[in-house]
Amino acid sequence: MDYFPLFIKLQQQACLVIGAGDIAARKIDLLTRSGANITVIALEFSASVRELQAKHALTVLQKPFAASDVNGFKLVISATDNAETNQCVADAANSQGILVNVVDNPALCSFIFPAIIDRSPIVVAISSGGASPVLARLIRARLESTIPYQYGKLAQLAETCRQQVKEAIKQPAHRRIFWEKVLQGNIAELVFAGRQQQAEEQLQLAIDAAAIETPQTGEVYLVGAGPGDPDLLTFRALRLMQQADVVVYDRLVSPAVLDLVRRDATKLYVGKQRDDHTMPQEDINSLLADLAKQGKRVVRLKGGDPFIFGRGGEEIATLMAQGIPFQIVPGITAASGCATYAGIPLTHRDHAQSVTFVTGHLKDGSIELNWRQLAAPNQTIVIYMGLIGLPAICAALIAHGAPKELPIALVEQGTLAQQRVFTGTLQSLPDIIALQTIRPPTLMIIGTVVGLRPQLKWFNDAAPAL
Ligand code: SAH
Repeated sequence: MDYFPLFIKLQQQACLVIGAGDIAARKIDLLTRSGANITVIALEFSASVRELQAKHALTVLQKPFAASDVNGFKLVISATDNAETNQCVADAANSQGILVNVVDNPALCSFIFPAIIDRSPIVVAISSGGASPVLARLIRARLESTIPYQYGKLAQLAETCRQQVKEAIKQPAHRRIFWEKVLQGNIAELVFAGRQQQAEEQLQLAIDAAAIETPQTGEVYLVGAGPGDPDLLTFRALRLMQQADVVVYDRLVSPAVLDLVRRDATKLYVGKQRDDHTMPQEDINSLLADLAKQGKRVVRLKGGDPFIFGRGGEEIATLMAQGIPFQIVPGITAASGCATYAGIPLTHRDHAQSVTFVTGHLKDGSIELNWRQLAAPNQTIVIYMGLIGLPAICAALIAHGAPKELPIALVEQGTLAQQRVFTGTLQSLPDIIALQTIRPPTLMIIGTVVGLRPQLKWFNDAAPAL
């Protein structure tokens, strides 16, 4: 973060604007919303600044800028078209540690203006750190259309009862659930419809009811986090991640996905590396149950889809047995994500009429799979957890009648920016891989569909195809 976002209280604070053209007018107009005491110094005053002066109590000084003018101000904006003056303003302010912004000159700024969505008291500020103000404005336009205009009113309503709710519902976790219901349910709708009084009455009833309710058991959400690219999350996954009290995750969940979890949620890492299960599965199962019993909303975040090589069934069985409510959210499994981002269709009318997902995990040094069936033509085989066994897998398929020239791809860190795809044949790939440093996770795709990659490749891999 090049610029740290903060919201500054400027009510009754002395703010200075140098320059009085149209750009200065826009900044002054913004500042007036904050309740600041504004002084403007300029040689000439545009009509728009004069208009603002008439509307708001601006102090206006017609004179050249001198370094001592910044004395006593909390914040200074230089909006002149004179580079020398701008530099003087920046120097004067910086030497006294006063916040300074020079319009269109990031190098001279100690703070920058974000794009603002004003639903006071809700304010959204967006910044590109000066990299692309247009992009920040486009994002603002998008958000403007999704944040109801009346959110400000809703926040005001919440504020009037905040203390009362705090006293009525002692547990912070329960209080949050209460507010989430209020702010997304029919009370919010009443505010949006302009029925303020009805909304206040309903809110009062809800507080009274919540005060006498006994605390409930929490819930567990078993959520598929997809293969890594956060854009591949489902809306439902994101919503639940934003509401969680606790998130229990393992190694396959990418940092970018984890970043989307509610900031204040407790994040528990329970590992899961090959042969290094940081926490035994039984302990994970009981951890989820215990957290829910404490009334927490627990998101169990799993890479890919929880029901594909994800032990989702085992975790749910424990919850079922203990009568704990749960929901399951599917995710994009590694096979779908990796195949798509590698430009390899898993089925194709001319190549493969079926696709099989298998685990290549070694058990006691060998892989038990139905090799005869897997070596048959016109199908695609996707192998999860197969990197260590790759040479053995290729050899076994050849031994059971698959052609040596059958194409195979190894997708490393699929769907992420650092994705790499290695392609070869059953015969050649083990040697190709042996020369590389491979970083897990990796997925193997076997079948003639792999040959379509040169035509269908669209995602920019970190390494050129071999
Ligand atoms: N439930 C998960 C799979 C868990 S098993 C899912 O549906 O995807 C773990 C294996 O998934 C890894 O060993 C690897 O083979 C595969 N995998 C998961 N994410 C991957 C990714 N981004 N790229 C390549 N393989 C991945």
